[in-house]
Amino acid sequence: MPISELKLAKELIRKPSITPKDAGAINLLAKNLRSLGFKCKIINFNNIKNLYAKLGKSSPNFCYAGHTDVVPPGNIKGWSVNPFKPAIINNKLIGRGANDMKASIACFVAAASRFKSKNKKFKGSISLLITGDEEGLAIHGTKRVVKYLKRKREKINFCLVGEPTNPNKLGEMIKIGRRGSITGRLTVMGIQGHVAYPHRANNPSDTMVKILKKIKEIKLDKGTKNFQPSNLEITKINIDNHADNVIPGSAEAVFNIRFNDKHSSNSLKRKLNIIFRSITKKTKSRFDIKYDVSGESFLTKPNKTTYMIQNVIKKVTKIKPKLSTAGGTSDARFIRKIAPCLEFGLVGKTMHKIDESVSISDLKKLTKIYLNILENYFK
Ligand SMILES: [Zn+2]
Repeated sequence: MPISELKLAKELIRKPSITPKDAGAINLLAKNLRSLGFKCKIINFNNIKNLYAKLGKSSPNFCYAGHTDVVPPGNIKGWSVNPFKPAIINNKLIGRGANDMKASIACFVAAASRFKSKNKKFKGSISLLITGDEEGLAIHGTKRVVKYLKRKREKINFCLVGEPTNPNKLGEMIKIGRRGSITGRLTVMGIQGHVAYPHRANNPSDTMVKILKKIKEIKLDKGTKNFQPSNLEITKINIDNHADNVIPGSAEAVFNIRFNDKHSSNSLKRKLNIIFRSITKKTKSRFDIKYDVSGESFLTKPNKTTYMIQNVIKKVTKIKPKLSTAGGTSDARFIRKIAPCLEFGLVGKTMHKIDESVSISDLKKLTKIYLNILENYFK
């Protein structure tokens, strides 16, 4: 009996798995997958449940990745239904996780069940990598499962991350990578003094202005085929000075760079440090810099599978999806270390919001897309 995406989506939403709580969501999923013949391994890290489920033993291994945890519902009174008692209103399923991303998982499981009933003996395997830790710190989730799979020499040939990727309509966007992000916290130290005697002081604000002007003027790149140009934004300038007749002793600034695959966090650090060194040397001041790297940029170069997926989506939705690297982070940043991956899921318009919802017709279409992807992949 094929699994219904709507029924499974509702059952998953009924588990109040507010990150990092599991509330039975992973076991429910494992139960459904076992009924289809999947071997399910529940991997606990720091009381966080993760699941790696696999149907078949041979290669290639096509993996679907996602998460069962959700963000808190916010003000319950604002919801039209109880966020954990999903209901259908005006052809929309409403509930927390409806598009980010329990319903997407349900669509993939439904697609796998239909694929299996039509293709009893296919060559290859289908797997699911599901975590309960994506919306929070994401330390004991996919990041550790990826290390675990690497240790076990588990090979994934292609991974589809089912996060909501479409801004407004199903079919608009596939994500094939994302930009990197680095934050720098710069302090310039001068010599404090009286404003009337500047020759006895060294004003760090002059140096800071020079540095900020210079780093803002760097042309990092013009963008690439798949990425928009890298960009630096100064997000904070701070001179904590409470007296108007005092030249301050130090000045601080914070900046962030979203960068494409022409750079790495290390190449950017080197480039910036040269500027900081040369300007502070000229102004006889000192500097301190601290960097935070939240991720390197990455790109899964479009290949045969990418174009196959793009065609399948176009066939079902009548829209040709854009291959994009825009937007924020997802677990694809960990998975890409062991497998080529791309992301395609539902419409993200209502994610994390009150009355998060998914249209019933999108649910049916996404199941069809996932099923067609499996059929083409294993053809
Ligand atoms: Zn998500």
